[in-house]
Amino acid sequence: MINDKTRNSPVGAPHILPPLPYAENALDPVISARTLGVHYGKHHKTYVDNLNKLITDTELTGLTLQEIMSMTAGQIDKVGIFNNAAQVWNHTFYWNSLSHKGGGEPPVVLKQKIESSFGNLDSCKKELTTAAMTQFGSGWAWLVMNGDKLEVTKTANAESPLSKGIKPLLVIDVWEHAYYLDYENRRVEYVAAVIEKLINWGFAEDNLG
Ligand code: MN
Repeated sequence: MINDKTRNSPVGAPHILPPLPYAENALDPVISARTLGVHYGKHHKTYVDNLNKLITDTELTGLTLQEIMSMTAGQIDKVGIFNNAAQVWNHTFYWNSLSHKGGGEPPVVLKQKIESSFGNLDSCKKELTTAAMTQFGSGWAWLVMNGDKLEVTKTANAESPLSKGIKPLLVIDVWEHAYYLDYENRRVEYVAAVIEKLINWGFAEDNLG
């Protein structure tokens, strides 16, 4: 379950930066080692560090990321905590949504669900591309399971489908820091390369639950 996979520290301990599921150069040349190094080692790590600072000596210490997200979502005085907790969760989920063995055809169970929800794989990939390209500013493009049906959705900044009770299957980070060093302003090239070469359909199938 998503809960177990994304619990990133023992109960009660500070949150940790989970190890990457591959080497920093594993996604090169689609995502360079330089981009991955900065994105994981600086951006993701900073969200972890900020979260730990913000929840020290509060009632949120010792809770999982998802528990913190659900307790702080939509609360103006807790927006900093929500943003950092959700960004820790979203980034761990993003690393697992990519693989150097990614792209290609989804495994059979996921493929059947994609075909019943979108018609065919190409339509699903087109929707993901559109969501990634039309997210204005920073955010995320997601493949999700909403009830029985697969859908594509997008969220701004740190927001997550989890806050709406929708189950994420995979995600693409479309913040500029995810692609700017490699593609400058050409988000469309980053998104196309990720979908064709890196997207980890196996991870998405595992998350069907
Ligand atoms: Mn990011």
